[in-house]
Amino acid sequence: MSGLSPRDPVKYVRDLVNTLLAGTNTTGVFLGLLSAVTVIAAVAHLAFIFLFDSVGVAWMARGNVASVLVYTLSAMLIQNGRHFIAMGLIVGEILLHGILSVVVIGWESGFHYYIILIIPVAILSNMHATWQKVSAAIAVGLLYMGLDFVFRDARPLEDLPHTMLSGLHYFNQASTLIILGLLATVYYRLVASAEARLRLQACTDPLTQLRNRRFAMEVAQHEAAVYERGGRPLALVLGDVDHFKRINDVHGHETGDTALKAVAQALRDGVREVDHVARWGGEEFLMLLPSTEQDEALRVSERIRDAISKIDLVHNHQLVPISITLGVSLLSPGETVEQALARADKALYQGKQAGRNRVVLAGQAA
Ligand code: GH3
Ligand code: MG
Ligand code: MG
Repeated sequence: MSGLSPRDPVKYVRDLVNTLLAGTNTTGVFLGLLSAVTVIAAVAHLAFIFLFDSVGVAWMARGNVASVLVYTLSAMLIQNGRHFIAMGLIVGEILLHGILSVVVIGWESGFHYYIILIIPVAILSNMHATWQKVSAAIAVGLLYMGLDFVFRDARPLEDLPHTMLSGLHYFNQASTLIILGLLATVYYRLVASAEARLRLQACTDPLTQLRNRRFAMEVAQHEAAVYERGGRPLALVLGDVDHFKRINDVHGHETGDTALKAVAQALRDGVREVDHVARWGGEEFLMLLPSTEQDEALRVSERIRDAISKIDLVHNHQLVPISITLGVSLLSPGETVEQALARADKALYQGKQAGRNRVVLAGQAA
């Protein structure tokens, strides 16, 4: 665990908040929470030692000495990456401390509330089998209800002053609710970030990290709708790497992949932030340039063509020649995206026929 050292309290809290709010890594976020809980719990139990000692309840004071040791040890274990052992110790402490408190100072003390927290932790934990999680949750639930049944009306071994008992009750109740809220927040963050990651993955090409065809088509349809409402123009540029099969055949498939990644980078570098670059197919790419007129679209395409022809890829001390042919069309009034793409594709084909490594403007829409 780096960055979550309790030695500098201000930095510690700041790092903790950052971990909780910005975390995308399941283990990191969970350990951040666990780490914070152990330190706060150690301090709280230290205070309990003095509290119970001051009213002469020796068993509770001793119990809290053990708790402080357990939480300190757990914090150290977490720092050293031994979080499973730490988790076991913490769960054990919560159970024993809850039972001890209920027996010695009574149900009203509220130390049993923390036992409930073991249920969500068990469900969210790394235990593999569902039956293990469910069994642990049911066992804890039954234990809690059993304790309630036996001790709710039982006379405690020690009578605490009423105000102190009441204070402890609400302190423990509030702490449990806060921890529940934190657990829910951590869980929510993890689900939200996992969902965002999946959404990005679903529209990203794994080789080039460009957007994929499906995403590009959605963007194109959206831009076309904007255009139809009298909005900005849309330029579509289809590119196809020249003699790519030859690159694969001569230099191998891996070099072919490297070439595709280099082309993708050149495309990314050649467009504005608002443009979209997608991998349309194997060695075909689509660029969508919103708010771009014909001259500008041709200028951008020419600059990209030039940049790609200058890619310096070497394999086995041999320069791998890379070039691209580009077909450019501008969406016309009343035209569908598919029709504009077909025109760009036709222009691209003409570019191939004319000798490749060139930019060709598509003919007017019919
Ligand atoms: P042209 O100049 O006419 O476009 O010729 P070409 O060789 O580029 O065209 P062709 O369509 O015949 O070949 C495209 C090749 O691209 C065939 C296919 O094996 C290869 N290819 C498609 N996807 C990938 C990929 O992800 N990685 C690699 N290395 N090759 C790919
Ligand atoms: Mg092709
Ligand atoms: Mg090709």
